[in-house]
Amino acid sequence: MKREFTRRELLKVSAQGAAAAGLARVAGGLSSPGPRPAEASTQDDPAGWIDSVVRDFVLYSPQNSLQNAAKEKAWADPLVGFSRGDDPLYLAYKDHVGPFHWTPLEIFQLTFPELSVTPDQLAIISWILPQTEATKADHRKETAYPSERWVRSRIFGEEFNNELRRHVADRLLKADFPAIAPALSPLWKMKESERYGFASTWSERHAAYAAGLGTFGLCDGLITPKGKAMRCGSVIARIQVPATPRPYEDHHAYCLFFSRGTCGKCMSRCPAGALTKAGHDKLACEKYMRQVTVDYASSHFGLKGYGCGLCQTNVPCESKIPA
Ligand code: SF4
Ligand code: SF4
Repeated sequence: MKREFTRRELLKVSAQGAAAAGLARVAGGLSSPGPRPAEASTQDDPAGWIDSVVRDFVLYSPQNSLQNAAKEKAWADPLVGFSRGDDPLYLAYKDHVGPFHWTPLEIFQLTFPELSVTPDQLAIISWILPQTEATKADHRKETAYPSERWVRSRIFGEEFNNELRRHVADRLLKADFPAIAPALSPLWKMKESERYGFASTWSERHAAYAAGLGTFGLCDGLITPKGKAMRCGSVIARIQVPATPRPYEDHHAYCLFFSRGTCGKCMSRCPAGALTKAGHDKLACEKYMRQVTVDYASSHFGLKGYGCGLCQTNVPCESKIPA
């Protein structure tokens, strides 16, 4: 019988990861980019260098765009965090998500079979791309269907997130650090998951959790210091970077429902009945997004794509850690 991934195990591996962690580096940012800062050195401060590579692209690239008439940015200032390839959480995810979920070492070796590497030589760079204030303000008003800005961020913002994945991996490769964005690997797949119905071979949110960037809410979204209205991404590289300490021991620490027995606001925001006290019904959520919001985005905005995320706005965890 399949072994359950217990809360006790998550607590244990979280504490182990935090104990092994070195420098804290969760980068926030100013709302105005200002002049472009000089990049840190890859030798003296590799974490600072990677941090500036991510932030620079988000803040200055014209591809960070909703592609609307006003050419508004899709994403606000990012957060960046790091985890290590030998973090025990990645083995624990195989029990939690499914045995098909890659460890950093597995996907790195599949990508670079000619390289010799051990888990402790790998770093996982994770980032959070927060929704802008304008997108959140629009989306808060909606009760059944997505706002246009939200759909644009889901389509064009995710295209930018893919560009960011390519850009970070490319900058690392050019600096002689082999790197791979697991979500862009041709080997990336959706699989059946005993616990979730379906899940992918690499979870960006689980990598972000490992990198100290947030904990899970009742709706499965990751609640970060900039809230749950965001998307995230990651790149794995053979580079020595200290892990970002995890300022939590419980994977639900930031959710009011789990930490205080209150809230549950995301349940009433869900138009598909996919959120209950039992958690997130991924199949009902996916059905709503694919069957309802696709038609809505096409008929109302002339956009080819989908998106919902009503559970991510007008809730206490929308833009901050509420607990
Ligand atoms: S809305 Fe409330 S219950 Fe839902 S994830 Fe956020 S804090 Fe948790
Ligand atoms: S994304 Fe939409 S359908 Fe899915 S859980 Fe959130 S509110 Fe419900």
